[in-house]
Amino acid sequence: MSRSDKTDKGRRHAATEVVHEGRDPKAQHGFVNPPVYRGSTVLFPTVEELFARRQPYTYGRRSTPTVKALENAIATIEGGAVTTLTASGYQAVTTAILAFAESGDHILMVDSVYQPTRTFCDVMLKKLGVETEYYDPLIGGGIAALVRPNTRLIFTESPGSQTLEMQDIPAIAKVAREKKLWLLMDNTWASPLYFKPFLHGVDVSIQAATKYIVGHADAMLGTITANERAAKFIDRAKETLGTCPGSEETYLGLRGLRTLDVRLERHQKSALDIAMWLAARPEVARVLYPALPGDPGHALWRRDFLGATGLFSVVLKTSEAKAVAAMLDGLELFGMGYSWGGYESLVIPFNPSSYRTATRWTDEGQALRFHIGLDDVRDLKADLEAGFKRLAG
Ligand SMILES: *Cc1c(COP(=O)(O)O)cnc(C)c1O
Repeated sequence: MSRSDKTDKGRRHAATEVVHEGRDPKAQHGFVNPPVYRGSTVLFPTVEELFARRQPYTYGRRSTPTVKALENAIATIEGGAVTTLTASGYQAVTTAILAFAESGDHILMVDSVYQPTRTFCDVMLKKLGVETEYYDPLIGGGIAALVRPNTRLIFTESPGSQTLEMQDIPAIAKVAREKKLWLLMDNTWASPLYFKPFLHGVDVSIQAATKYIVGHADAMLGTITANERAAKFIDRAKETLGTCPGSEETYLGLRGLRTLDVRLERHQKSALDIAMWLAARPEVARVLYPALPGDPGHALWRRDFLGATGLFSVVLKTSEAKAVAAMLDGLELFGMGYSWGGYESLVIPFNPSSYRTATRWTDEGQALRFHIGLDDVRDLKADLEAGFKRLAG
């Protein structure tokens, strides 16, 4: 098993960083946590100061000390230069793409990407005159053949959040460097702890902080972390689009961060246990989880990642709709719903052939995505065991 405590020389270990970054008790009268600054107006002491805008905070939308605290913590932990918070993970995706894409550009988008990101490309980018070309997540360095003179950026998501294909990020980064393209990555699955995008050539890393960083399914939040080269583009996009997070949500992100390492350890352990148990079930055709030794992405995952989280998928042998509904409708511990990364266990049925365009999904059985929460695995297995009985009729 890879461990989350590998880190750059001279840095503290991950578990220590999530506890200490973004807070300064001495500056907070000894209180352990930073206060929540709520506010729009920020006062300036003089006309000169007002025109010079020299003070660190000038308007609530631009930043607050609470926002800065979480931004600085994520930048340090994920290993980038600057982090910008957004109101949702999806807004982090759209703001980051709009920071670079211009009318007349061509962009390369991974076929396994989070579905709303596809919708943004197919609807909004199209309207703005930006052409999106989808590519096979397994393409690796072969992506060089798709680069055109007007290609601006490559967007990656590894592994994909439904079908879990691993991408060869270093090979794609090499092409991006050679062809002078921006490399963006949706790094939500691994969180800032289990994949360090900036050590692998990524320019901009996106987190749906709604998932593991908030960690309790009680807030929407996104982060965009950039290297030095990309930071000014992200900053300009944030300013011109008016992107900003809520003050309460930002605080919930800070609060969630403190337990991220310990929660992920449990998510990983339980997910691996249940994934192996499912792989041995007669009802299951295959399990999609790069942490499993038999997974096609396992070698890349071992090479590049520091751990695995609680999200994986399975393909059942059957696609019989009534039987699948009986299995899922009766589950007591697994909730059915979108999102993931909270303490609770979830399942959703999905069908990749309905949205793929660059690759074909050939499995015939029903695909299910699981999020393994912090429940005891013995209870989760009993819940699934009863579900398999209903599946069999
Ligand atoms: C959920 C998710 C998003 C969007 O985040 P929201 O906070 O729900 O807007 C983006 N990317 C991935 C991979 C996600 O799972």
